[in-house]
Amino acid sequence: MLKRSDIYTALNATLVAMCVSLLVTFVLMKLLMGLWRPEGLVIAAIAPILIAFPVRLYIERQRSELLRMHEELQQAHRDLTYASQFDELTRIYNRSTFYRYSQDRFEEEPTLAMLLIDADNFKSINDQYGHQSGDDALSLIADAIKGAIRTTDFVGRLGGEEFCVCCPNVSPEQAQRIAERVRKAVSQIVFEPAPGVFHMLTVSIGVAQSLPDTSLADTSLDALLKRADQRMYRAKHGGRNLVVFDDEMDAISA
Ligand code: GH3
Ligand code: MG
Ligand code: MG
Repeated sequence: MLKRSDIYTALNATLVAMCVSLLVTFVLMKLLMGLWRPEGLVIAAIAPILIAFPVRLYIERQRSELLRMHEELQQAHRDLTYASQFDELTRIYNRSTFYRYSQDRFEEEPTLAMLLIDADNFKSINDQYGHQSGDDALSLIADAIKGAIRTTDFVGRLGGEEFCVCCPNVSPEQAQRIAERVRKAVSQIVFEPAPGVFHMLTVSIGVAQSLPDTSLADTSLDALLKRADQRMYRAKHGGRNLVVFDDEMDAISA
């Protein structure tokens, strides 16, 4: 499709080429060769229309096409960057991004807490209401977690119905409060998988805290995550919809 701006640019270029052509022809004929042939000037005026206009129009079209392809490439790059960092369903960090950022924070400031969060009896949601309802529930849970944490905390989806929150620079009491807030926020979600049918969503949360210079000083993020995972399983065995914290924490924070 020819654009009006391309035609204007080509016309401008043709006009300039015509002026230059007339000037050069005039100088050559009159001043250097001493002859005056009006048909020479007519040819000098027509030639740019026949040559400069289509050539410039072609260049402008190629330029517009290149610009469009460049924009498409930029958009594709943005989409790919997003897809490589975020979970498509819940729009929170995916496992690798979450792990990378958590590792950075752990190295910068080892006083942090990890909240390992697993949705309770999630299989039954899929079984009762279908996979799409299960997906909706996962999105709602991710939104509730995001809304319950501090702006400095961040959340990722580790996989399936499992999430993790990294709380940098946090005291044991704060970490416990954040975990409780998350648990409560999820339990208050209004999830209506079918018209008039409400299903309560709950999560079990294991909290592990790293505190330098105490018995809770973890040497690696993996060790911290493993501890959080063990606490999460204790929350499951404790009846679900529960937060389980480090046993040693009470003694340290007392
Ligand atoms: P528990 O309380 O012990 O954690 O029970 P659970 O049913 O949540 O755990 P289980 O590991 O038995 O089942 C997890 C279920 O989560 C099974 C799987 O179909 C579902 N699930 C995992 N990822 C997705 C997903 O992306 N979408 C949907 N709809 N379901 C998912
Ligand atoms: Mg589960
Ligand atoms: Mg699980």
